[in-house]
Amino acid sequence: MAVSDHVDLETFMAGVTKRNPGQTEFIQAVHEVAQDIFEFMQDKVHYHEAQILRRMAEPDRVISFRVCWEDDNHNIRVQRGWRVQNNNAIGPYKGGIRFHPSVTESVLKFLAFEQTFKNSLTGLPMGGGKGGANFNPRGKSDAEVMRFCQSFMSELYRHIGPNTDVPAGDIGVGGREIGYMFGQYKRLTNRWEGVLTGKGQEYGGSQMRPEATGYGAVYFLRNMLRHRGMDVEGHTAVISGSGNVATHAAEKITQLGGKVLTMSDSGGFIHDPDGIDQEKIDWIKHLKTVKRGRISEYSDHFTNASFHEGKRPWDVPCDLALPCATQNELNEDEARELVANGVKGVSEGANMPTTLQGVKIFHDAKIMYGPGKAANAGGVAVSGLEMSQNSERISWNSERLGEMLTDLMEGIHGKCTEYGEQEGGYVDYVKGANIAGFKKVADAMLAFGVV
Ligand code: NDP
Repeated sequence: MAVSDHVDLETFMAGVTKRNPGQTEFIQAVHEVAQDIFEFMQDKVHYHEAQILRRMAEPDRVISFRVCWEDDNHNIRVQRGWRVQNNNAIGPYKGGIRFHPSVTESVLKFLAFEQTFKNSLTGLPMGGGKGGANFNPRGKSDAEVMRFCQSFMSELYRHIGPNTDVPAGDIGVGGREIGYMFGQYKRLTNRWEGVLTGKGQEYGGSQMRPEATGYGAVYFLRNMLRHRGMDVEGHTAVISGSGNVATHAAEKITQLGGKVLTMSDSGGFIHDPDGIDQEKIDWIKHLKTVKRGRISEYSDHFTNASFHEGKRPWDVPCDLALPCATQNELNEDEARELVANGVKGVSEGANMPTTLQGVKIFHDAKIMYGPGKAANAGGVAVSGLEMSQNSERISWNSERLGEMLTDLMEGIHGKCTEYGEQEGGYVDYVKGANIAGFKKVADAMLAFGVV
């Protein structure tokens, strides 16, 4: 069959849209990837004939289940939980669990699809999955969170396993939640095995895992800057979020001689013109993970800082921008403002934080732009290393893991430049990540035949 006989991008996307009604985040994520892959597949008839992209954009399975739990006032609460197992061509499904009221099947399908490419880019044997529930841990007592996690795991446990599917944390799921879920898995199965990553270090968690996503996003940024003869040192950075990824990104920027100006949460952002140094970052970590407070409290404590209620930080002039909160948190106008204010590099700690139109603004302005699927892959990469350590019953020290993380991020950057370098030296990191991530999974799928 001639290549020209195959469907074009428009027809392909019309099919995706029709088959996934109302799933805007998922359609957006597939569209972003399909644009590059259609170009790449132009002269590669075997991928078309085997319907590889169509198969990747149809999850292997979507498991949806009821999660019942009792709150402290003895009310029975009902939530919905999911696990999306997108693709396991190159390894067990792997991807985080998100607890947030905004979680829907569309959000988890987009995340599982993206995860497939990200995990492929790391070079480690991991397929793509994602899960979660529309549960809001904010304002809940520890006992309520525990009961929810136990109920969630009472269904999930039958779908996961160290060689099947290995979930991790994500928004709203940190060390506390992983602990409760691992405890319940162990109770139900009577097996101690590496079925979750991001575990506490007392029970099989890897050193460097909490830091890995944020540090990795900064290493990726440093690789992009170095590729153009620059470095992090002496540059100002605007960061959104104040969770796991954001605080560790801030920490690494500071360690490398940069100055962090902002952090945020869903209530607004704080701007500290003096810079958010290590002591202040530690204060934020304590505020968010122990006190479970709001970022607005920062400006009460550090009085040179200002709090901007309900706003996002992208109009603060900076050299570097790191969106580390959530999807679609940086739109076209905000991207334009960043460019007008002279931003040099953008590295995404979060997944798909920039809208498609925002990404176009960065590309048109030839800004160094590292998409989440490449820039935040350090987290899942160290999760992959946690799986290896659990299987071998060993643990590596943080120095060794730090070196491995630096090498992994350099490797991912190299793959992006291999497929993304354009005439004149500009690197289209989205294209590079999409093609490199796609090729490995696609070739594995071809080897399996029609399954
Ligand atoms: P956390 O729950 O630790 O922190 C999330 C942060 O984002 C909080 O500050 C939260 O504020 C803020 N946030 C959440 N939703 C919104 C919203 N709608 N508007 C504004 N701010 C919001 O999550 P992580 O740091 O783990 O995850 C952040 C991002 O990084 C996500 O996109 C996640 O998918 C991605 N990621 C995480 C990895 C990891 O290893 N943890 C790995 C790879 C990607 P508030 O307190 O108000 O909710």
